[in-house]
Amino acid sequence: MKLSPKAQASINKVIEKFQTGDLSAVTRIARIQVASDAPVNKWSLSNKVLAFLQSDELDCRGYKQWQKEGRTVKKGSKAVYILRPKLAKIEQENEGETKNICVGFAPIPVFAASCTEGDEVLPTYEPVEYPPLLDVAKKFGIAVEYAPISPDKLGDCQTDGSKIRLGTHDAGVFFHELAHAIHARIDGELKQGQNKTQETVAEFTSAVLMDLYGMGDSSGKAWSYISHYSDDPLIAITKAMGTVEKVLAVLLADEVPSVGS
Ligand SMILES: [Zn+2]
Repeated sequence: MKLSPKAQASINKVIEKFQTGDLSAVTRIARIQVASDAPVNKWSLSNKVLAFLQSDELDCRGYKQWQKEGRTVKKGSKAVYILRPKLAKIEQENEGETKNICVGFAPIPVFAASCTEGDEVLPTYEPVEYPPLLDVAKKFGIAVEYAPISPDKLGDCQTDGSKIRLGTHDAGVFFHELAHAIHARIDGELKQGQNKTQETVAEFTSAVLMDLYGMGDSSGKAWSYISHYSDDPLIAITKAMGTVEKVLAVLLADEVPSVGS
């Protein structure tokens, strides 16, 4: 398996950054947001995660809340449930003051946007410009979906590599999830959850692709991300390099070699 000199140069550049510690600053990644007036914006973090886990969508609303938006919940739609704390007033021991305490939770049914219909159209979240390599995802039948997702992640990839969900328009996150999907195709299936080797392969591949396409230096982000899984990111990427090269070879197979190379 041979990578183009350009791809090899990008690998070397990111490794060198890791070796010398000359890393890029870690910047915050902008998320795709649900409309600012959507009820979900007022929910607790755990309710957002809860609704997303059940429905695969973040923009969930109550039956009447959807009606107010000019949309009705389709017949036969399954509700998902968020939890509202039940509060009770108790007397303070001295001074006769009262205090609210949580005595349990009441489930509240809400419905995902895709369960609704109406003349008012739902927003779409596609980027103005698609990232490089989207055609490779298409070629391998990897579905790519842009939508607001739960706050505990920026994107994810199904273990069989058939679908990527992106909660941001950031190209680096797309590259990370695409690397997971191709890794899944190479190995047959990914391991469930956040696996150390898989995360190292995906994040390092993303940093290489960012450099290759001239989309910026994400070495600092890659270093800090891989640090969550490994004490020494440099050793981690050295161990993962064989797989990184396989993933890059698949991703860049159709790359037109530049003249003279
Ligand atoms: Zn990942």
